[in-house]
Amino acid sequence: VSFGHFGFDDKLLKSIIKAEYSTPTPIQAQAVPCALSGRDVLGIAHTGSGKTAAFLWPLLKHVSAQKPAGEGEGPVGLILAPTRELALQIYTETKKFAKIYDLKVICAYGGGSKWEQSLALKEGADIVVATPGRIIDHIKGGATDLSRVTFLVLDEADRMFELGFEPQVRSVCNHVRPDRQTLLFSATFKKKIERLAKDALKSPIRISQ
Ligand code: AMP
Repeated sequence: VSFGHFGFDDKLLKSIIKAEYSTPTPIQAQAVPCALSGRDVLGIAHTGSGKTAAFLWPLLKHVSAQKPAGEGEGPVGLILAPTRELALQIYTETKKFAKIYDLKVICAYGGGSKWEQSLALKEGADIVVATPGRIIDHIKGGATDLSRVTFLVLDEADRMFELGFEPQVRSVCNHVRPDRQTLLFSATFKKKIERLAKDALKSPIRISQ
């Protein structure tokens, strides 16, 4: 499989080449076509597998086809990650590819300035990368809302649960419209993740490295 098989537009293909990626990783080869077809995906994958781009490219295709965010509008694409470090890594990867579409990307993580994040969110966002507790804080504070979210990614779901974020993750899932597309990635597949997948995904395609 080569990147040409994904049916991406020229701009995205160019930016993938610019990032010096030569071939899709196994997880990308499997997950990207499934996600592009609109299906929910349950991916068992570790860091280093290229899973970020595997959910990011389909997310960008989805989000760039929607109306750009107006002032105060919440995101169309939402990515939840367990830690500040991972959220920032995903944010960096997202910026790398989102530039070409001129999308507003905001990273909201615990430990960062709530005030600065909420000012940015209030200007409107196309994509938000967030840790679960912090996004709930921002929703409660009125800085953003989930009404436009139609593409939801839960990254490292097992770590989010280990860190005690299960209620926040479930709350987000319950407040995003049910006709969304959802991608769930986890390094392990235990009972709790199985239950989340059952509750939050619709007949997902299962993928593992
Ligand atoms: P991840 O598993 O998403 O954390 O990605 C691990 C690293 O691999 C990151 O530094 C990516 O920029 C890089 N990467 C992702 N996809 C590819 C690819 N197809 N070819 C080469 N490097 C990649």
